Amino acid sequence: MIEMKNFIDGEFVGSGSGTTFENFDPTVGRVYAQVHEASRDDVDRAVKAAQAAMRGPWGRMSIAERSELLLKVADRVNERFDEFLQAECRDTGKPYSLASHIDIPRGAANFKVFADIIRNVPTEAFRMETPDGAGALNYGVRVPKGVIAVICPWNLPLLLMTWKVGPALACGNTVVVKPSEETPATATLLGEVMNEVGVPPGVYNVVNGRGGDSTGEFLTQHPGVDAITFTGETITGTAIMQSAAVGIRDVSFELGGKNAGVVFADADFDQAVDGIQRAVFANCGQVCLGTERVYVERPIFERFVDALKTRAEGLKIGPPDATDTGMGPMVSSQQRNKVLSYYDLARSLGADIVTGGGVPEMGGDYANGFWIEPTIWTGLAEDSPVIKEEIFGPCCHIAPFDDEDEVIAQANATDYGLCTTIWTQDSARTHRVAAQIDVGISWVNCWFLRDLRTSFGGAKQSGIGREGGVHSLEFYTELRNVCVKL
Ligand code: NAD
Repeated sequence: MIEMKNFIDGEFVGSGSGTTFENFDPTVGRVYAQVHEASRDDVDRAVKAAQAAMRGPWGRMSIAERSELLLKVADRVNERFDEFLQAECRDTGKPYSLASHIDIPRGAANFKVFADIIRNVPTEAFRMETPDGAGALNYGVRVPKGVIAVICPWNLPLLLMTWKVGPALACGNTVVVKPSEETPATATLLGEVMNEVGVPPGVYNVVNGRGGDSTGEFLTQHPGVDAITFTGETITGTAIMQSAAVGIRDVSFELGGKNAGVVFADADFDQAVDGIQRAVFANCGQVCLGTERVYVERPIFERFVDALKTRAEGLKIGPPDATDTGMGPMVSSQQRNKVLSYYDLARSLGADIVTGGGVPEMGGDYANGFWIEPTIWTGLAEDSPVIKEEIFGPCCHIAPFDDEDEVIAQANATDYGLCTTIWTQDSARTHRVAAQIDVGISWVNCWFLRDLRTSFGGAKQSGIGREGGVHSLEFYTELRNVCVKL
């Protein structure tokens, strides 16, 4: 049995309270690791270590030195690529083919990109006039915020964590990370990397545990935390915001979504089917940017439904290391039950179940894994909970539409506003529609293409703030103005 400890002040330490919790391999449905749960005291030690590191060598380090260290972190993650890959896939059940292209390379790239950006950030300067004629010079200086609490979900554990830790450290902050209780493995492994490349103790800390009334809440309530960056469910964001209100701490939130995919009849049909297939079923549908509502222009509706059905039925469900695996299991039995409850609800509401709707038969060792069928529905009313609520599984509803205004209104008829994916070959329509769908990210004729220098974040209840490129600096630094009388 593997043991996963907390990483505090550069050391792997057991839970102060002696409490551990179980971590499951979702492909077999069995416990494979015991994780040390961080108590309130453990969290306090981690925050104090992070504060001390800010006052110590990390706080005194030049931007160039910090940047060099982060490049070494990126290199070391790449050198230990296979270990990260195996750890991530065991924790989540996702296919190697996916994690080796997305999760692990992006985990490394998140350090490299921000190491580069931080060396090249300009700040503003203004020369002003004064009554005595001598003038004054104003200039801006970016300073780190301090200790950042980083709270992460389970769907893309390393990628989403480093997306926050990379810029936080590049800007000179220290971090206390609370990975999801479902997926602590790669955050733990990253602690080893930090020590190997010489990141000072206390700069990167990991506390394991659950959320409410547990480690996550102990962390967000800690007065030594200067700002909180969180990715997860909108309802959790509400709870975290309440903690952050005490002490007026800043938050950056990447929250849930109920994203619409819009396919016009003039789209490149095969390209659109490819893109929507990935947007619906990649990572077993456990992607915040995924598409659970697909709108297809009526002339190609039936052909499109048939094509996506064929794709869904062609997805090979299997373990991470099988080269032909197209889709792994859900991360936990709890998450699978949640998704299955929507499968039942869709059935009871009279949906036409185009494909799926249940649990596949898996033999041998995999009989008790958290597998689920990719599922497509048509025929549900637009106000159905299946169409309104985030499910976070490998499923979508497809509805026909007749004109542009109608589909824009449908796409916007949600409390969420994370992203959309639009498929058309009409370039004027591209810009017209993208301008009217109320989201943080619009993809046209593509999905999940990310240039890490661009802004990332959601509108409406899908988030607060933007991260990515120089936009991350708005959250991870304070901009101080210095006014010098000449
Ligand atoms: P979740 O909100 O249940 O948990 C996320 C993290 O918050 C976990 O580490 C959890 O332990 C912690 N947490 C829970 N309650 C807490 C509390 N009261 N105080 C402090 N911490 C607490 O989310 P999840 O189920 O892990 O992830 C799935 C959700 O994440 C989906 O809603 C998905 O859309 C969203 N997500 C959003 C993005 C994005 O970029 N917008 C990316 C990935 C996932």
